Amino acid sequence: MTGAPRPWRATILTLYPEMFPGPLGLSLSGDALARGAWSIEPRNIRDHGIGRHRSVDDTPSGGGAGMVLRCDVLAAAIDAALDPDDARPRLLMSPRGRPLTQARVRALAEGEGVIVVCGRFEGVDERVIEGRGLEEVSIGDYILSGGEIAALTLLDACVRLLPGTMGKAASGEEESFEGGLLEYPHYTRPRDWEGRGIPQVLAGGNHGAIAAWRRERALEITRARRPDLLSET
Ligand code: SAH
Repeated sequence: MTGAPRPWRATILTLYPEMFPGPLGLSLSGDALARGAWSIEPRNIRDHGIGRHRSVDDTPSGGGAGMVLRCDVLAAAIDAALDPDDARPRLLMSPRGRPLTQARVRALAEGEGVIVVCGRFEGVDERVIEGRGLEEVSIGDYILSGGEIAALTLLDACVRLLPGTMGKAASGEEESFEGGLLEYPHYTRPRDWEGRGIPQVLAGGNHGAIAAWRRERALEITRARRPDLLSET
């Protein structure tokens, strides 16, 4: 293959574009951003708001508390941000979505990038989800005040997997979830701390024994904390 790979591209639709790249401008993701391994384009939904006040929301049809993001405003923002042939997945951060998994993160990181819509208020008018083919993605069973922190979470998980982003290339492959298991425990210096030592096997230099010990601990921790992961395969 020739030439530099095209950067992984994230387009974010939000009412708070100043939240991006935020924490992703620092550390490994920030270095990768500066190097051009990925790019981020926050777009303000309010630029497509209605009237003098650039209104983006309205009261829920049928009544109830809170406000709902208008489908026409959000669709205009999406249409303005994308080329017609843009094939990147269009995600809507939403507690109703399919929970994000490491497998999905890996698939997204291997693609061209993502388009992420960040909800606010009570959520978005259902019609724009259908009309613009948005896929709802949740980062967990709790409610955030907006989709921005959920989007940052998804981006962080993807960006760290981009080629050359991680400090040590190998350190992505042994982590929690990658083998369907939670990770084994880590230790470093000092050798003795507050009366606690380091498991003998780790000091022995027997790589086979160390690997076996780590796998056994990973199994034990997974069985105790997340038995659902073991029954998944
Ligand atoms: N009324 C909605 C919650 C709205 S929270 C409900 O009960 O389902 C406001 C916005 O925050 C949502 O539109 C979504 O974009 C974001 N959000 C909240 N919790 C989230 C989660 N767990 N995962 C992803 N996005 C979330």
